[in-house]
Amino acid sequence: MGAGSAASPREVEVLVVGAGLAGLTAARALDRAGLSVAVLEARDRVGGRTWSRRAGGATFDLGGQYVGEKQTRVQALARELGLSEVPTPHQGRTWIELAGRRTSYGGAVPKLPISTLLQVQLFISRLDRAAREIPPGEPWNAPAAARLDAQTVESWFRRFTFGHGARAMLRLTNRMTFGAEADEMSLLSLLQYTSSARGLGYMTSIEGGSQQGYLVEGTQSLSLGIAEKLGDRVVLGAPVRRIAQDESGVTLHGDGGSWRARHAIVAIPPLLAGGIDYEPALPPARTALTQRFPMGAVIKCIALYERPFWRERGFSGEVISDAGAVGYALDSTKSGGGPPALVGFIEGAAARTWSGRPEERRRTVLAELARFFGDEARTPVEYFDQDWVAEPWTRGCSAGFAVPGTLSRYGPALRAPCGRIHWAGSETAREWFGYMEGAIESGERAATEVLERCQAAD
Ligand code: FAD
Repeated sequence: MGAGSAASPREVEVLVVGAGLAGLTAARALDRAGLSVAVLEARDRVGGRTWSRRAGGATFDLGGQYVGEKQTRVQALARELGLSEVPTPHQGRTWIELAGRRTSYGGAVPKLPISTLLQVQLFISRLDRAAREIPPGEPWNAPAAARLDAQTVESWFRRFTFGHGARAMLRLTNRMTFGAEADEMSLLSLLQYTSSARGLGYMTSIEGGSQQGYLVEGTQSLSLGIAEKLGDRVVLGAPVRRIAQDESGVTLHGDGGSWRARHAIVAIPPLLAGGIDYEPALPPARTALTQRFPMGAVIKCIALYERPFWRERGFSGEVISDAGAVGYALDSTKSGGGPPALVGFIEGAAARTWSGRPEERRRTVLAELARFFGDEARTPVEYFDQDWVAEPWTRGCSAGFAVPGTLSRYGPALRAPCGRIHWAGSETAREWFGYMEGAIESGERAATEVLERCQAAD
């Protein structure tokens, strides 16, 4: 991988902005098709929202981690790179703390009052029915798009549920799944997410769901594997600040100098794409879209221990809670002999509250784990966390979402090329929006778009 320098302007056929899974997938496809490419990456590493760290002899994912059997592109890439996928550990009782009531349960059905359970189940069935009406990847073409987009997820909960328990559970589910509060997210955006990912039930399940497995080597190895083959065509430390286009090509300006190409693929979240200067200005619909597509918010916290004391007490390590900072926790012990580990997620508004306060956050997270699993949780052998909200080149996580009135009006601008600029990134995916799988799909799609245009011009 090369290091960017203002003194080394270069010309290639296609430039890719962003060395996350989407950008690297696109670059690889174009390279394989015989086009010359360069990937300009702002950070000093590849992988974007997938970032892995070694600790205690094992690899821990600070960003994207879980893979389900329906995410076939991730699985194929992992196989190609010789990575090993293993099941997520999950045996024993789960803690749930909701609306001021705390209890633990075994099996898949949370121990909640029957009326809460029924309302939640009916709501999810209603949601999955509505999601089936969404044309794949094109929520703006749904028959009721404008009506669905005129309401928040919260207003829909309120229409179909009563009482504190069911609403608290649904708010928490929204936060855990999208890093977004239910009252800030458009219902159409939720339906876009769930329809692209086989329904909310699949998205939130471990066994047989999208959190079924993980990669022993960490998910960043997917990007590292592609980047290694691209070699010095991946330029690190090269944020792109301005993109100018004319009749014959695009010029990208940034800390890595100026680059010229026939086409550019911008493979970053819409919020960040909106932060680049474009010349001439992009169409108003594209600008409106990027102004209305915030990132969710997640801080991922990992604590390593000497002993798996939660397992010894019959707990799986899973916690679902709306009481404190940590909304969701899981056993994150790695297969093959790493230290026992718990991972906690701070999500939504709480992630914004706890962002930028590392010491207090550490104490709070460990104290909360101790409330469920006992005092041993307070004294890990190692603790680290990743505050995605504070990352300038991501600015939240795990993905972007649309606020009301966005997708129905400006949704097509998510993928529609603007002249010679094409868009990729998991937020542009038709399938698995917001997931690693979607990032790969979007990179493949953007590469095909560019190849077709290059072939048409030849
Ligand atoms: P990114 O990974 O964001 O890549 C974009 C790249 O562009 C970054 O490297 C960035 O540094 C760079 N960049 C940004 N702006 C510029 C610029 N101006 N110039 C140059 N470079 C720029 N997915 C799953 O499938 N399963 C999970 O379990 C899961 N859990 C997650 C948990 C967390 C905490 C997080 C953060 C994410 C999770 N995800 C999960 C989501 C998944 O990681 C992402 O959807 C996916 O990695 C996005 O890839 P991408 O290439 O679209 O974008």
